[in-house]
Amino acid sequence: MHEPTARVRACDRSRIRVMFDLAQELEREGRDLVRLEVGEPDFDTPEHVVDAAVDAARGGHTHYTSNAGLPELRGAISDTLACEYDVKHTADEILTTTGGMEALHLAFLATVEPGSEVLLPSPSWPNYWTQARLADATPVEVPMPAPDYDLDADTLIAEMNEDTSLVVLCTPSNPTGRVADPDEVRAVVDAAAEHDAYVIADEVYAKLTYDRDPTGVAALTGHPDHVLTVGSCSKTYAMTGWRVGWLAGDPTVVDEATKVRESTTACTGSVAQHAAIAALTGPQEPVEAMYDAFRERRDYVADRLADMDGVTAPEPEGAFYAFLNPDTDEASLPLAKRLCEEAGVVLAPGDGFGAAGEGQLRLSFANSMERLEEGLDRIEAAL
Ligand code: PLP
Repeated sequence: MHEPTARVRACDRSRIRVMFDLAQELEREGRDLVRLEVGEPDFDTPEHVVDAAVDAARGGHTHYTSNAGLPELRGAISDTLACEYDVKHTADEILTTTGGMEALHLAFLATVEPGSEVLLPSPSWPNYWTQARLADATPVEVPMPAPDYDLDADTLIAEMNEDTSLVVLCTPSNPTGRVADPDEVRAVVDAAAEHDAYVIADEVYAKLTYDRDPTGVAALTGHPDHVLTVGSCSKTYAMTGWRVGWLAGDPTVVDEATKVRESTTACTGSVAQHAAIAALTGPQEPVEAMYDAFRERRDYVADRLADMDGVTAPEPEGAFYAFLNPDTDEASLPLAKRLCEEAGVVLAPGDGFGAAGEGQLRLSFANSMERLEEGLDRIEAAL
């Protein structure tokens, strides 16, 4: 028996999954836990989207589509990017993917040479480390300045060199909930372009921006050709299980990614593509209602954390996350386990988002107001 390859052995299991499994085990024993570790909307997919999928399935839209996806969907994504984020791409410059995750995977494969460096401003989403390793590249964690961990261009640019092939920006950020300052974004993309590197703009949370209008990274820079935009139906339309995302950008990269995807997933599920067309082009009231609920929760969580002794947190400006810095020397994982086992509240350990997150905890407010109130009471009592 051969060992699995070094490439896959280098990939870590997610810390969030550790907490998820522990919580499930305790729940099976009958424990009441407030689950604030999971990063997905607690809402159901809007009904008109489900109806469109049922119609598509009954109407025989159950076959392979072209690798890049249905032209109507690529057109709808093109319109959405332009109208909502000021990012201009023709349908030809857009590949529909199996969630934002596949878009990231293909973008990494198409842009990094083995051994080159991928800069990850941190704390950041753990999957980027895995994506870099699967592409045989070296993920380089670049800690952003505490306490807010906001994107700091100078810190990131100082790490750029001739080996840098990719820089990943995620705004609003998972896990901090912070929105990057446009000037910092512009400076990073300018510097990346000078180094002939691409910038992946992970904008799966772009719609969930609470204090300013959402704007795509590609719209902020004079080098949009160096920006690869990743988006998804998952968070905006409560469609995590449908697995529809996209990659938009330089047609050379998009074409190569499309070629590779012929051998991986071939295409996004055809029924899910029809659902996504309905989500993007149909009534937006359900999206607005979800947005309003997230904003109300954000306000509540921000107020509670600001008043709480024993913990500080930068104000969440987007997505549905707050990043808590408890006033204790305990490491993230034991602290998260203790809060789960003793206080009955489940949070994601901060070190799962890079060494910069050690000692901290990510709280997801994708849960009802009642459960958030209960969860924050439990955190307050425990800390
Ligand atoms: N990017 C970030 C920062 C995420 O948090 C996620 C999901 O949690 C994704 C991308 C990918 O989401 P999906 O594949 O469901 O579109």
